[in-house]
Amino acid sequence: MKKYRIAVIPGDGVGPEVINEGVKVLNKVSELDGTFGFDFTFFPWGCEYYLENGLMMPKDGIDQLKEFDAIYLGAVGAPGVPDHISLWDLLLIIRKSFDQYINLRPVKLLEGAPCPLTGVKKEDIDMVVVRENSEGEYAGSGSWLYKGKPNEVVIQNAVFSRVGCERVIRYAYELARKEKKTLTNVSKANALNYSMVFWDEVFNEIGREYPDVRTYSLLVDAASMFFVKQPQRFQIVVTSNLFGDILTDLGAAIAGGMGLAAGANLNPERKFPSMFEPIHGSAPDIAGKSIANPLASIWSASQMLDFFGHEEWGKVIIAVIEQVLTEGQTLTPDLGGKSSTSEVGDAAVSMLSAAY
Ligand code: ATP
Ligand code: MG
Repeated sequence: MKKYRIAVIPGDGVGPEVINEGVKVLNKVSELDGTFGFDFTFFPWGCEYYLENGLMMPKDGIDQLKEFDAIYLGAVGAPGVPDHISLWDLLLIIRKSFDQYINLRPVKLLEGAPCPLTGVKKEDIDMVVVRENSEGEYAGSGSWLYKGKPNEVVIQNAVFSRVGCERVIRYAYELARKEKKTLTNVSKANALNYSMVFWDEVFNEIGREYPDVRTYSLLVDAASMFFVKQPQRFQIVVTSNLFGDILTDLGAAIAGGMGLAAGANLNPERKFPSMFEPIHGSAPDIAGKSIANPLASIWSASQMLDFFGHEEWGKVIIAVIEQVLTEGQTLTPDLGGKSSTSEVGDAAVSMLSAAY
């Protein structure tokens, strides 16, 4: 029997609460399928580890993760630890070390999910955002030119390499071709007169190899407006690291909230492990209360199954999430219910069993 080795990093805040439910679902899938299974290894890394050891993960953390087929991450961040440390020293270092240059974020209004927009049908919000995940505005390059008030000057560089732009844009074109969908390029070439001009150039250049793919280009400000006003404009979206980060939180808001938004950090060549996570943070405001919505984590588990080639199971999990939402009996407070995190996970597991 094929066994997938999964490194689980539950992390901080609601991370462990929600990831636990995703693990339950994955275990049930393997039990029902019978031809593959999962070996989960848990790594207690994150802010608690940092407060004890001064590091978010051990020095050889990346080496330890290297041998796994995938990483399943909860969330990192805690009030006592600066955000740029918790983010950089764990999440971003994993994304970079394992060259997870694609961040794939579905923005899809599932049956039964609440939508704050009026006059929108379920089919109107059904897109995938392909976010550049290795460089751009999050390249981590910059300097403190002058320290001290009042003339402090800080520089943060954005880095756009040809290889970096080409590979993510090509990935998006391939996806659009495979799924026979339109592709929208989101950039900001009018104001960012080097980086985004170059990005657009690469987008148009690669487009010549994909005459069958219908494309659009939008500035990020206009795209934000259309996400709200006319989300049906978008099918596949490709954009830079920062714009993708912001747009997908907006995407989460129009498609049911942070408790329903999943993301995959992919190394498409499979040279290194890919990482699957809910896109929300550690949510300290609701941590420890067992009320976090686990459906985003469960959705990211379905992305993991897709990536392993078990798309049929990925679809079953999405159908189960829709069933949880439409039945409406077992929902966490963010979706207007009174159930706990684990009650929602248990409901998903029992619907999964019933579906098979
Ligand atoms: P980060 O910087 O790590 O992205 P953040 O500051 O953006 O974190 P989140 O932790 O994502 O914040 O939380 C934003 C809001 O969404 C909070 O009010 C939080 O309670 C809510 N939220 C996040 N995740 C969930 C969840 N799984 N279920 C319910 N509510 C959630
Ligand atoms: Mg956030």
